[in-house]
Amino acid sequence: MKEYRYVYGPVPSRRMGISLGVSQIPQKVCNNSCIYCQLGRTLQMSNKKEDFYNYEDILDEAADYLKGKPYLDVITVVGEGEPTLYSHLGELITGLKKLTDKPVAVITNGALLMDEEVKKGLSNADIVLPSLDAYDEKSFKIINRPHGKISFSEVYKGIRDFSETFSGQLWMETMLMNGINDDDASLYKLKELLDGIKYDRLYINTPVRPPAECEVKESSVERIERAVDLLGGVAINLAASKGFYSEIKDDYEAVLSIIKRHPMNQHEIKSFLEERDCQDKDTVFEKLLSNDEVEKIDYKGYVTYRGVAKVKKGE
Ligand code: SF4
Repeated sequence: MKEYRYVYGPVPSRRMGISLGVSQIPQKVCNNSCIYCQLGRTLQMSNKKEDFYNYEDILDEAADYLKGKPYLDVITVVGEGEPTLYSHLGELITGLKKLTDKPVAVITNGALLMDEEVKKGLSNADIVLPSLDAYDEKSFKIINRPHGKISFSEVYKGIRDFSETFSGQLWMETMLMNGINDDDASLYKLKELLDGIKYDRLYINTPVRPPAECEVKESSVERIERAVDLLGGVAINLAASKGFYSEIKDDYEAVLSIIKRHPMNQHEIKSFLEERDCQDKDTVFEKLLSNDEVEKIDYKGYVTYRGVAKVKKGE
């Protein structure tokens, strides 16, 4: 059984269905360190585009994976940090589009959408999903904790200008957190900013997986409904995701390979193992518990498992 290095999943995406992930950024290299990040704190803050991995190697792997004709709704370039920090993003997207008739989506924090090279690279994507969680410099620093040189006004302008020229689908996402940006005053400010952006969809999200900072709490259903009323978006279903998949035969190794890129809670692991007809789920959980490269986080009354982030630049 082949081990894939850059391609993972498919994993269920609450916005996009069954998604094959392409990761071209070393774990937790990002130009933000969002307080809600499900991957934990950013270990390498960087705002410099780099050629982290050879894009042809990534495309070769994706081609090999797609030969097996897995069921997919979308291919998502998501990285394990910020995807637009990859200097060959354009070549990667163009190459992926030659391999499949499925849409190619890119999830981004939007911080580099003002960069001409990034804009050009993204122009071939079918869907771009930028985030807008903050509404001014102060809230940006509190929520997204950007790299020193990044200002909120520039990021907002970058997203707004990008929305004017991008011909694909632009899906915005706003992460709401209890007492941080979900009061009416914050929502009105977010609405004003969103009104300036030409987007196709808006998703209202809240941290359903353990955030980087434990004091961050999800918004209440009432506040999410209020946001949907005011902003006009769609609340992402908070239910546990189904549909995780791995080609790896060994059940434990299959779980490990997913949680390195995408945290799973105990219920998701259990249903994943049941779907694979795993005969000894207890042993898989015991091995996860004893592996010190797996974080176990008690959040919202159940345990979420996440691969411990390590900085391995250019490996
Ligand atoms: S949520 Fe995205 S932008 Fe924020 S720190 Fe995590 S990877 Fe970076």
